Amino acid sequence: MTQYVLAIDQGTTSTRAIIFDHSGAIVSVGQKEHRQIFPRAGWVEHDPLEISARTRDVVGEALARANLNLGDVVAAGITNQRETAVVWDRTTGEPVYNAIVWQDTRTQPIVAELGALGGGAERYKDRVGLPLATYFSGPKVKWILDNVEGARAKAENGQLMFGNTDTWTLWNLTGGVDGGVHVTDVTNASRTMLMDLDTLAWDADIAGEMGIPMSMLPQIRSSSEQYGTGGPGGVLKGVPISGILGDQQAATFGQVCYEIGTAKNTYGTGNFLLLNTGEERVASQNGLLTTVCYQLGDAAPIYALEGSIAVTGALVQWLRDNLGLIGAAPEIEQLAASVEDNGGAYFVPAFSGLFAPYWRADARGALVGLTSYVNRGHLARAVLEATAFQTREVVDAMNADSGVALTELKVDGGMVGNELLMQFQADILNVPVIRPKVAETTALGAAYAAGLAEGYWSGLDDLRANWAEDKRWNPELDPAERERSYRNWKKAVTRTFDWVD
Ligand code: ADP
Repeated sequence: MTQYVLAIDQGTTSTRAIIFDHSGAIVSVGQKEHRQIFPRAGWVEHDPLEISARTRDVVGEALARANLNLGDVVAAGITNQRETAVVWDRTTGEPVYNAIVWQDTRTQPIVAELGALGGGAERYKDRVGLPLATYFSGPKVKWILDNVEGARAKAENGQLMFGNTDTWTLWNLTGGVDGGVHVTDVTNASRTMLMDLDTLAWDADIAGEMGIPMSMLPQIRSSSEQYGTGGPGGVLKGVPISGILGDQQAATFGQVCYEIGTAKNTYGTGNFLLLNTGEERVASQNGLLTTVCYQLGDAAPIYALEGSIAVTGALVQWLRDNLGLIGAAPEIEQLAASVEDNGGAYFVPAFSGLFAPYWRADARGALVGLTSYVNRGHLARAVLEATAFQTREVVDAMNADSGVALTELKVDGGMVGNELLMQFQADILNVPVIRPKVAETTALGAAYAAGLAEGYWSGLDDLRANWAEDKRWNPELDPAERERSYRNWKKAVTRTFDWVD
C-alpha cells in the first residue's frame, strides 16, 4: 500500500495542508486564508481559534482531494509562521488574547525598556543570537501579561500556556484540554529571545527580566521526533506528529541545504534568506540573526545565519488591498511589464520598521523619486524591485559575515512565480537565481522532518535525490546600471529613518 506524509503549513496569510509522496511530489493541497486583524497602526493580530478551525478544515480537504484516509498517512509534520505569539488557558483552551503576529510593532516600548537595563539592542545577543526587536515572541508575551486583565495572575498560578503557532497547532491536534502536548522545537524556540543557543534550554534570567513565568513555556524538543499522536476526536486521530520546523527553517530543509554554505531565499509575506553554518553558531557583524537551522533527533543542532525582511509580498498585498491598483497579487507582473523601468521611483516598505540588516524600529515606509512622469506601472515596478533590493542588502551582509561570496541563490515562496521579479533579482544580485520543481518547500521541509523520524525516508541522501531544478534566471543587466539603481535604493532607505521616537 502506498503511504504518504502530511504537512501542515500554518502561514501568515493562510494555513495549508499538503500531502506528499515518497518522491517529494505534491499529491493534494487544502488551503484557507485567515483574517489579518489591524486594530491600530503597527498592530497585527490573528484569531487563534480561527487558525485552529482552518487547520482542521484544510487537513480534511487535503485528504478528501486525494481520496485518502488517515491509515494512508505515516506521519504529520508542522511548520509555522514563527514569532507569532499565542497565550491560552490550559484548562479551557481559550486564548486570553488574539495571536500577536511577528510583524506587529506594539512592543517597541518594552524592547526599549529592556535595552535600557544595559547593553541596548545587543543585550541578549550573545545568548540568543537575536537583537532586541519587536519581531520576536518574548516581548509579545510580556505585552499580553502586562495588558490583558487578570492574565499575569493566571500565568503566575500556572494556568496559562504560551506557544508560537506550531505549539498552538500541536496542542490542539493532540487533544487540547484532553491531554494536548505542550511542546515546541528548537527552531521555533530560537525565535522567542528566551532560548540559550548553546544549551538549547530556556534562559531563566531572560524570562525573569521579561516577567514570563517558566511554567508557561513549552518543552523544547528536536525538529524530528515523535511528539505525540493525533487526539481521539481530532482530524489526525492516531497519526504520529513527528516533525516541527519554523517556516523558514522548513524551507531551508525542503531545499536540501544540508551542507555548510548552502542557502535559500523564501519570498512570501516577507523574505527570509538562511545560510547553513553547520554545527558552528556564527555571530553576525552585519545585522543578521543567528538561529537554529534544524536538529534531527539526538544529533547535534545545525545553525544558520538569517537575513529577515519584514515586507516583500506584503507590499504587493498592500497595493491590492489598500490602493486597489491590482485585483490579485499575480496581476502586478503585467502592470510592471507595461513600462520599461521604475521611472525613477523607489519604494521602501518599512511598514514594520526595517529588519535586516538595519534593525530600525523608528523607520516607516517611503516612496521617493516621484515626478509627474511616474504612473501605476512604475509604481508596480518599484514595488517588485523593493523585494529584490532588500534581498541584495541581505546577500551583501551574508557575504561579509561568511567571507565567501554567494554563487547562486535557490528561491521559493509565493512570489517566485513572478518572472519579472526573478529576472530583476538575478540582475541586481549578479548571480543566477534557481527555482526548484516543488516550490512548496516550506511544507516539504516539515514533511521531510516528520517522515525521517518515522523511517519513511532513510536519511538526507533520500531527500537530496528528490530535489530537482525547474528554472534558472541568469544576470543580464549592465553592471553600471545595476550599481546606479542600487545606489539610489540605498539613498531611498535613508529617507525612512527617524519617523518614530
Ligand atoms: P506566506 O507563507 O508568508 O503566507 P506565501 O509564500 O503564500 O506567503 O506568499 C504569499 C505572498 O506572495 C503574498 O504576500 C502575495 O502578495 C505574494 N504573491 C503571490 N503571488 C505573487 C506574484 N505572482 N507576484 C508578486 N507577489 C505575489
